[in-house]
Amino acid sequence: MLFRTHILFGVFVWFILDRVIEMPIFVLLFVLLGTAFVDIDSCSSWIGKKVWFLSWVFRHRGMLHSLVGCLVLSTIVAGFNRWAGFGFFVGYLSHLIIDCFTLTGLKLFWPFEFRVCGFIRSGSWVEDVVFVFVLAVDVWLVFNSLF
Ligand SMILES: [Zn+2]
Repeated sequence: MLFRTHILFGVFVWFILDRVIEMPIFVLLFVLLGTAFVDIDSCSSWIGKKVWFLSWVFRHRGMLHSLVGCLVLSTIVAGFNRWAGFGFFVGYLSHLIIDCFTLTGLKLFWPFEFRVCGFIRSGSWVEDVVFVFVLAVDVWLVFNSLF
């Protein structure tokens, strides 16, 4: 999935959690950091282009695109601040969940080779439809929380 879709889906997940769990507003920042961070292993992603050398170290959709990567890195962030770690975990997990719907899929249970795949080609019109739908839901949630 594209950066923009991950960001909007991260915001959507944060909105849903915010209705269930009372949490500080800065958690949203770490949700966005978590969801943006995962594609650091891809030299063609928005964030990967900024730190292109890391794609030499991490294979795209390898360890970083797994539950192991999510838990390890979120635990490290939580070592500094529990809410920050929670937000990072939520954003990271939201990224993994929607990447599971892509044709390429990902090795969610890395180091096991089993790949979870979906039906959406990244950047295709189907992703555009998903993007517009999540955007509409996010806008509705924003207005709903303001009024
Ligand atoms: Zn990804």
